[in-house]
Amino acid sequence: AATRIPLVAGNWKMNFDHLEATYFVQKLAWLLRDARFDYRRCEIALMPPFTSLRSVQVLVEADKLSMHYGAQSVSVTTQGAFTGDVSADMLARLGCRYVIVGHSERRKYHPEDDANIVDQVRAVLTAGMQPILCVGESFEERRQGIQLEFAVGQVHDVTRDLSDAEAARLIVAYEPVWAIGTGMVATPQTAQDAAKAIRDDLRETFGAQVAEGVRILYGGSVTSDNAAELIEEADVDGFLIGGASLDVEELSRIARLT
Ligand code: PEP
Repeated sequence: AATRIPLVAGNWKMNFDHLEATYFVQKLAWLLRDARFDYRRCEIALMPPFTSLRSVQVLVEADKLSMHYGAQSVSVTTQGAFTGDVSADMLARLGCRYVIVGHSERRKYHPEDDANIVDQVRAVLTAGMQPILCVGESFEERRQGIQLEFAVGQVHDVTRDLSDAEAARLIVAYEPVWAIGTGMVATPQTAQDAAKAIRDDLRETFGAQVAEGVRILYGGSVTSDNAAELIEEADVDGFLIGGASLDVEELSRIARLT
């Protein structure tokens, strides 16, 4: 992770209304200020539900906070008769820097297949934001010993149509499904093996410069008890954090350890 600035991204999922989000952001900023946190050493991003994005934006802009924010999903269409959808341009206009794409919960509970995920990535890039592409095997693929091919394949399906410049703006989150919300964190070696396999594939497709610049996050039951050893791994460039990102003290601890 030496030359890449690590990213700690909190995926709030369907938690916190806009008042709770406002409280959280202020408290996180105070905690980090008290700890003299250096945002140039480690980047922080929050991914609230759509309904809190505007509140987070107002705080970040008014206080010139150094944290970033983004959305958890996006429509693949630009506008029109798509009830309930939110377009990439709408998110970009709210100052979003990132959009999570292909989270396993979206793949499971919504009809988000590979083709849809490719289109989301394209929509995010076109709107000038950065996709955080989630990949990772289920317990079954791990049992069969095909976890690396599986995760690399999921990345490759999306990246093969990207230009070098587009690929350079991608962030990948390796999130083994068996580790999400289960308390069963991957070992540092498991996270490193997957991150390295993904980076090797990016190198083959786009060359060393792009591959060395893309940040590859680990996600799945990250806490302040395991973050420090995971970030030691050469190809792990930060975290996508679910449960632990709902506890502001815990999130600030993880950021300080990263
Ligand atoms: C996630 O949902 O992206 C995630 C990693 O969740 P958790 O940290 O709760 O395992």
